[in-house]
Amino acid sequence: MTQSKRIAILGAGPSGLAQLRAFEAARKAGVKDLPEIVCYEKQNDIGGMWNYTWRTGLDRNGEPVHGSMYRYLWSNGPKECLEFADYSFDKHFGRPIPSYPPREVLKDYIMGRLDKRAIFNYIRLECPARWITYDEQSEKFTVTVMNHKSGEQETEEFDYVIVATGHFSTPNMPYFEGLEQFPGRVLHAHDFRDALEFQGQDLLLVGGSYSAEDIGTQCYKYGAGSVTLSHRGEPMGFDWPDGIEERPLLLRLEDNVGYFEDGSSKRFDAVIMCTGYQFHFPFLPDELRLQTHNCLYPDNLYKGIFFQPNPKLIYLGMQDQYFTFNMFDAQAWYARDVILGRVQLPDDQARLQDMQVWQQEHETLATPLESIDFQAKYIRDLVSRTDYPDFPVEKQAELFKSWLKDKDASIMEFRNISYASTLTGTMAAKLPKPWLEIKDDSLEGFMALKFITD
Ligand SMILES: Cc1cc2nc3c(=O)[nH]c(=O)nc-3n(C[C@H](O)[C@H](O)[C@H](O)COP(=O)(O)OP(=O)(O)OC[C@H]3O[C@@H](n4cnc5c(N)ncnc54)[C@H](O)[C@@H]3O)c2cc1C
Repeated sequence: MTQSKRIAILGAGPSGLAQLRAFEAARKAGVKDLPEIVCYEKQNDIGGMWNYTWRTGLDRNGEPVHGSMYRYLWSNGPKECLEFADYSFDKHFGRPIPSYPPREVLKDYIMGRLDKRAIFNYIRLECPARWITYDEQSEKFTVTVMNHKSGEQETEEFDYVIVATGHFSTPNMPYFEGLEQFPGRVLHAHDFRDALEFQGQDLLLVGGSYSAEDIGTQCYKYGAGSVTLSHRGEPMGFDWPDGIEERPLLLRLEDNVGYFEDGSSKRFDAVIMCTGYQFHFPFLPDELRLQTHNCLYPDNLYKGIFFQPNPKLIYLGMQDQYFTFNMFDAQAWYARDVILGRVQLPDDQARLQDMQVWQQEHETLATPLESIDFQAKYIRDLVSRTDYPDFPVEKQAELFKSWLKDKDASIMEFRNISYASTLTGTMAAKLPKPWLEIKDDSLEGFMALKFITD
């Protein structure tokens, strides 16, 4: 009798859960000889980034806090673009809800399709991966984790390792002259939790991307005195309300005054660095470690998943993300089918050539619209290779483009707009009042709103 393969999944966020669910789907379909799976999760619950924590710095086990989510976060893209192909919002909520739900509502949806009893059989909570090696002779990985529940390190061998540890957790923190003398709070977006903390304050947000845009509008919504967004490249250029403005690069701080590249200056109470995240895999030696920056096609990953030097090491969700949950599903399904031997990986050279084709196209991408189409094409390629339920990814790409236009039209109002589901055709409900006026965004508070349906 042959011994079954063993797989370690690192992380039980949306990507790791997608992988567990892909194997569960095979099990429920009656597939025999499934591999033995262990999913190691650092936190004390599943959900990854969506497992909101008030903590910053270190968790109760002394591990760096993973979460970067903040209390009043609402979906930053239409929910119709992240709908699971096999689990619609209609199915979960039983009635139309608006296109931009708050964090707790999205988490409820992600968790809703899981057979938790089955999934938890595989998961070991509070077990961060500590170190991984690969032995060429035995062709096995040795995975060492710290089991904080038992207080002991554990080491086991696996045939495959799937890294699903996310890449929005380790702050990229720049330095500006005078920061050490700044008399107020200086924090990274990773540690931002509650906009109410900054009520009445004049805020400097350094950064020109989603974090700056979202934290800035949120602080405005919850009563900040003013929000100044300092950008290094092009300005975001939205039609900001009075109270939010953009300035070019911060040059230095003197006491609590910031000086900018255009010669202007302003006094601030707090500085929030919305300056992105680093890819950080402290549990991997150099020869197994993905080295990349946030982009749509990381180097050295065949089909965006298989580590080229050793394709038994699999990375999920390492792309910059327009698409999220359904992309993770497509990746997980493909990884599963390769592990099950249903899909054969080509040889080194063929994989390299395939990556080069994608990367050449990646390098030509000049606009967000082209980037959206590129990611949709990537997902289409994955889905076409497995029996993952087909879904209208190109229609979702068009929705993303509408979303960009809606933001350009009004950055403070785009969340009031509704879209139709590309899966069910159901038109999303409308919020009964503008997003800007809805301050209670708990699951109960949101679902108790009197949504408007046609
Ligand atoms: C502030 C913020 C807002 C966002 N808003 C949206 C949004 O509105 N819509 C959207 O679709 N996406 C959004 N995202 C993107 C988000 O990253 C994805 O939705 C999704 O959470 C990524 O899933 P993941 O499983 O790849 O990573 P994560 O969700 O980050 O999960 C990774 C998991 O790995 C675990 N882990 C880490 N290190 C180890 C280790 N050493 N050992 C074991 N486990 C480990 C972590 O504890 C975590 O549970 C947002 C991200 C951020 C940071």
